[in-house]
Amino acid sequence: MSKAIKTFRDETRSWLKENCPPGARGPGFIPWGSRKIELEPDTQLWLDRMVAKGWTVPSWPAEYGGAGLSKPEYLVVQEEMQRIGARPPLTGRGVNYIGPTVLEFGTDHQKEKWLPRFARGDGGWCMGYSEPDAGSDLANLKLKAVDEGDHYRLNGMKTWTSDGIYGDWIFCLVRTDPDKPKHEGISLVLVDMDQPGVRARPIQLVSGNSPFCETSFEDAIVAKDDLIGEINHGWSVGKRLLQYERSVHGGVNTSGAQVKEETQSLSDIARQYIGVQGNRISDPAIRDRLLRLEMNDHSYGLTQRRVIAETDASTPALATSILKVKGAEFTKERAEVEQHAMGMRGFAWEDDNFTQQENETNKNWLTTRAVSIYGGTSEIQKNIIAKRVLGLPD
Ligand SMILES: Cc1cc2nc3c(=O)[nH]c(=O)nc-3n(C[C@H](O)[C@H](O)[C@H](O)COP(=O)(O)OP(=O)(O)OC[C@H]3O[C@@H](n4cnc5c(N)ncnc54)[C@H](O)[C@@H]3O)c2cc1C
Repeated sequence: MSKAIKTFRDETRSWLKENCPPGARGPGFIPWGSRKIELEPDTQLWLDRMVAKGWTVPSWPAEYGGAGLSKPEYLVVQEEMQRIGARPPLTGRGVNYIGPTVLEFGTDHQKEKWLPRFARGDGGWCMGYSEPDAGSDLANLKLKAVDEGDHYRLNGMKTWTSDGIYGDWIFCLVRTDPDKPKHEGISLVLVDMDQPGVRARPIQLVSGNSPFCETSFEDAIVAKDDLIGEINHGWSVGKRLLQYERSVHGGVNTSGAQVKEETQSLSDIARQYIGVQGNRISDPAIRDRLLRLEMNDHSYGLTQRRVIAETDASTPALATSILKVKGAEFTKERAEVEQHAMGMRGFAWEDDNFTQQENETNKNWLTTRAVSIYGGTSEIQKNIIAKRVLGLPD
């Protein structure tokens, strides 16, 4: 470790110790900018302090609300925060998806206008990509944006809009030229959700939650100034944003916050429910699955570190898809092992005879089915990987 990094680590450690309030440590809510969600005092204080330091987006330039940290410094901040259980001060699609996209494709004026707002968590962002006929075949999208001088008028529908009812803004892929081939004639725009023409309706899921919405656009207005990248070239901009999204799912995001949730260890759960013989979990099948998971987790963590260290500021295309596929497999396997270890206690459904954790296990298992779907399904990621590895045409 270089001397400069050691000094930086010492300073970071003591600053965090003094400035991270107790209520911002351990599991809890992480703000994502929504103005519709009120924050606990410690969460707000932590956000304010980290905004002032530029550490909600540590690697962004200082002029746009970051701290201009190098990759090794960024990793030090993450590690020191994890060491004391400090929650990320800010997360979400603002700092992690659209933020780096504006940094890469925005005009100087757009960067000045938007980046400090993302960095402060001023407004919660939703993602408007999927439509009823455009999921994996995203380029089939139809939401129409018609040029009306200084603005576009939007009509159409998006679906699976996560956090739709709490969103303040939504970045949307829209069709600006319906006469061009489908990958052309698409643009990326930033839409204010608090206008009469935008409506988000919750979709009820089998898990009982409604994490996402159907969002309709009826004569919604977007200022021309809020089109990111060139008109009709939104496909490349939109694909790049997806790489930023997948870098979050793959744990190699170096823009905003890496969110690592603290959970009870699986081996503790297995010990509690299955029991031990000597010092070993009694069931050899579970022992085998746990060991594999632990080894996979460890090598996955090392690969994440290597990918972060090897890439420049930009996010790697191929690695994000590989990490997304493998990360999704491990997440699903972890949920299955947890349920397996709990036996019948892991199949509860809002039943007072079961603990809260037992009641959560089934829902968690159902929720984790989504990880190989959102951000592009595993099959689509494998297509991307195959195209790059085999050098096939797009
Ligand atoms: C929890 C969750 C949150 C989401 N949040 C958002 C959001 O905020 N905003 C947003 O825009 N979208 C969101 N989505 C939507 C998500 O991006 C889409 O569900 C995803 O892209 C797949 O599209 P689809 O559901 O239409 O499936 P389909 O495209 O209909 O696919 C169905 C199946 O066919 C397979 N398949 C399709 N095409 C191919 C192919 N060419 N080769 C091989 N297999 C193929 C798929 O892998 C899949 O298994 C979310 C989804 C989930 C589950």
